[in-house]
Amino acid sequence: MPESTPTPRLSTKISAIAESATLKVDAKAKALQAQGRPVISYAAGEPDFPTPEHIVEAALVAARDPKAHRYTPAAGLPDLRAAIAEKTLRDSGLEVDPSRVIVTNGGKQSVYEAFQVLLNPGDEVIVPTPFWTTYPEAIALADGVAVDVFADASQNYQVTVEQLEAARTPRTKVLLFVSPSNPTGSVYSPEQTKAIGEWALEHGIWVITDEIYQNLTYDGVRATSIVEAVPELAEQTLLVNGVAKTYAMTGWRVGWTVGPADAIKALGNLQSHLSGNVNNIAQRAAIAALTGPQDAAEAMREAFDRRRKLIVGELNKIDGFETPTPQGAFYVYPDVTALLGQTFGGVTPKTSLELADLMLDQAEVAAVPGEAFGPSGYLRFSYALGDDQLLEGVQRLQRLFAS
Ligand code: PMP
Repeated sequence: MPESTPTPRLSTKISAIAESATLKVDAKAKALQAQGRPVISYAAGEPDFPTPEHIVEAALVAARDPKAHRYTPAAGLPDLRAAIAEKTLRDSGLEVDPSRVIVTNGGKQSVYEAFQVLLNPGDEVIVPTPFWTTYPEAIALADGVAVDVFADASQNYQVTVEQLEAARTPRTKVLLFVSPSNPTGSVYSPEQTKAIGEWALEHGIWVITDEIYQNLTYDGVRATSIVEAVPELAEQTLLVNGVAKTYAMTGWRVGWTVGPADAIKALGNLQSHLSGNVNNIAQRAAIAALTGPQDAAEAMREAFDRRRKLIVGELNKIDGFETPTPQGAFYVYPDVTALLGQTFGGVTPKTSLELADLMLDQAEVAAVPGEAFGPSGYLRFSYALGDDQLLEGVQRLQRLFAS
């Protein structure tokens, strides 16, 4: 009898998933803070503000209403789907029936499900790099293959059609498009967006467009949705979005996907077995967020804008930090390759991972190294923290790297 190979104890596919690097750095910073160390963390990907009061109030009212104690349709409350359809027209320029909306447990579930529904084993997804850490894992979980296309700081972290075309193969099924971007904060211009959308349309490539930071833009810039730039693309595009970033609602877990009827049907079937509906009370809070007054969201955006200017200005005072001014999201992404190989406090970092460790050890400042988002040589700073802390942290870095 041939010797049988032992059965792996756990799923090999799931065992291959890496822990989220951004959450890991944040957890390390929080653990040090818990020990009493005055760590300033730029690692978190969430607004530091409380959720606006009228949204919280809507949730309190819902919690007392027995109707909200029940399941909703798996695809979401009809009123929320209608509010999302209106928001999609308002901000993404796409007119859709509410039946083309599915409410998900955050943008993260939307991303995961999008790849599950579109990919067959071996299908390729073009991933503009630097990328948000979750994408490659979500692609691998759907048996897809991520094809990274890297754009550096000199390109403002924006890929070109030429680069995309060079990466295209007969297996290319999906292009991921993220503007404003996490981790770079980069926003594609309407012209670039149109050129990329036309390329995808011409080659019959699906687009997953992650618009979760769409309302956080600065300098009068508006993030143009790829379906607004190229309306014919709507039949091969899934739009990912959610309330988390715009309304300081990361913990509430409400996101959504908008797409063509066949894909939304497939997503609904998947979600009905995966998680069913999103928390009923949180859905009612999301209705208040989308349909209520927008002044609190606007005040948060203005605060982010002020902090953005502060952090870019201060980081650029450090020799070796090349920091493009981002026009969206709440991240800055300096190129720090010039610092690698230099010695600070007796340590000579060779990678941005080692540089981030050095910053945490010697200045008690946490930022996420570029390795979490693609190539080494970069650091991601979130500026979703209070102004005083924000300034204090970069001043510590100015002292560390001046030595
Ligand atoms: N997309 C991007 C680009 C993100 O940065 C995030 C959050 N970090 C998400 C999607 C998911 O957001 P959530 O699941 O909190 O709605």
